[in-house]
Amino acid sequence: MARTRLNPRLAKLNRTYTTEEVARLYNLSRETVRRWVRFAGLHPIDGRRPTLIHGATLQTFVAARREAAKRPTPAGRLHCFGCRAARRPALRMADFHPSRGRGAGNIRALCETCGGVMNRRARWEAVPVILPGVEVRVMEGEGRIAERPTPPATVAFNEDENP
Ligand SMILES: [Zn+2]
Repeated sequence: MARTRLNPRLAKLNRTYTTEEVARLYNLSRETVRRWVRFAGLHPIDGRRPTLIHGATLQTFVAARREAAKRPTPAGRLHCFGCRAARRPALRMADFHPSRGRGAGNIRALCETCGGVMNRRARWEAVPVILPGVEVRVMEGEGRIAERPTPPATVAFNEDENP
């Protein structure tokens, strides 16, 4: 993966980018950029279409991502871009949003320190290893929690460490 080598300074501070332009700038798929916006905390200027991202926001995001990639996140924690550190999920709870037609999905939890949303791509089988002792709800589709169409299934993993 070239992710760790993305250069934040490719983004110009004083312009805005569409997701397509971000993809071209960093030689990524548009799907990756959309995932950054939906799950990884890359904030667009507003909720309008097309999605526009400010260059300064993009620089900060890519720099934080590169920094996070250098440090592995220990089990039981996810990387919080707000804290710029590995944090435990608040209330030991997380959601898993499976991607359609694949065994992978996104883990989403709230940071217990700042309350920000933390995300991580993972295969479902890896979730108990990534978050031991955390109650993980499986969500339908990749929608936000508030938009879920059906009540989620709840799966509790055994804690493999003593509190
Ligand atoms: Zn945080």
